[in-house]
Amino acid sequence: MTFQEITDFIRNIYQTDKFIPLHEPLFIGNEKSYLNECIESTFVSSVGKFVNQFEDMIAKFTGAKYAIATSNGTSALHITLLLAGVQTNDEVITQPLTFVATCNAINYCNAHPVFVDVDKNTMGLSPDALESFLHENTRIQDGQCINTTTGRIIKACVPMHTFGHPCRILKIAAICKKFNIQVIEDAAESLGSYIDTLHSGRIGLASALSFNGNKTITTGGGGIIITDDQEFANQAKHLTTTAKTPHPYEYIHDQIGYNYRMPNLNAALGVAQMEQLDAILSDKRKIAQLYADFFKKTNSPAFAHEPPSSRSNYWLNAIIFHDQSQRDAFIEHANKQQIMVRPIWTLMPKLTMFKHCQSGPLDNSMWLSERVVNIPSGARTLT
Ligand SMILES: *Cc1c(COP(=O)(O)O)cnc(C)c1O
Repeated sequence: MTFQEITDFIRNIYQTDKFIPLHEPLFIGNEKSYLNECIESTFVSSVGKFVNQFEDMIAKFTGAKYAIATSNGTSALHITLLLAGVQTNDEVITQPLTFVATCNAINYCNAHPVFVDVDKNTMGLSPDALESFLHENTRIQDGQCINTTTGRIIKACVPMHTFGHPCRILKIAAICKKFNIQVIEDAAESLGSYIDTLHSGRIGLASALSFNGNKTITTGGGGIIITDDQEFANQAKHLTTTAKTPHPYEYIHDQIGYNYRMPNLNAALGVAQMEQLDAILSDKRKIAQLYADFFKKTNSPAFAHEPPSSRSNYWLNAIIFHDQSQRDAFIEHANKQQIMVRPIWTLMPKLTMFKHCQSGPLDNSMWLSERVVNIPSGARTLT
């Protein structure tokens, strides 16, 4: 299969001669009318009905008992980690193949990321790699999981559902339970992805989702924390809203809080987007199916299918080339043709800030990082 055949096929999916972005938001519903409503009512900021409405819609859609909207996905991750008990000098296990925000949030807690390999087929944290890392490198002392190399407590584990493909979260959670490690899911990319019939982000103690402009639906910028734990939810609301104690007019704050609340303006956009979510997910699935059928004809590049017993939102479709030089040549070809394609992230331990962090063997992560390319995946205008 030639590169030209691939780019022709992408053009054919999107039916345009213009630039094709990787993932463009789709505004086909009440976005303008709800935004107007905010402006006319003057409730554009930290107070307004859309925030609660958006939180309710996400809770209902994911099946979570509680949802707390935040300024972005990174701040949602930061707060979930703090509330999972991650403190200065603790360690948090995560995957090297992720967006930098996962590791930044760990660092905002003054904690240290530890990198464990991913599965090739899910591109998310591997329970097998996790189990062998924990067996070889930790001991339990006073009920806490201690890293025998560093002497630090491993407090939490943050698996990520890469490109919307669910990782093997049930196995990961069972292993973490044995080692007294809290699970926080980075579900930033996986709104509308399921493990069997359970929405992603519903296994861990809490999860963070993102509504940045390039995600499945957008609030401009925004995120949300979901959890079934009432106390966790109350604390999350409190910490994200400057830790203000309720009072009709006095300013009383009972700890250092954060201004991480989602503004009403952003939530208004979110409510309108949620109304279109089923349509958006269904078109994205159609696009994924078109790609899957097309790439069936060849084994390089191979299409990254949703893992077994799961349903992916196919946030970003991914193809896997035979080797790095073939991949780089394709990226060059497509971008020259005004079709945006992008290599998977640079592995976290290759970034300056995380070079010193401990890692287990990372064979699968390294293999994928040389071969994976994301191709245009945004839902098309539906008629
Ligand atoms: C998008 C994303 C985030 C962060 O979300 P923002 O809303 O951009 O802060 C975190 N983790 C992953 C894996 C993401 O893809």
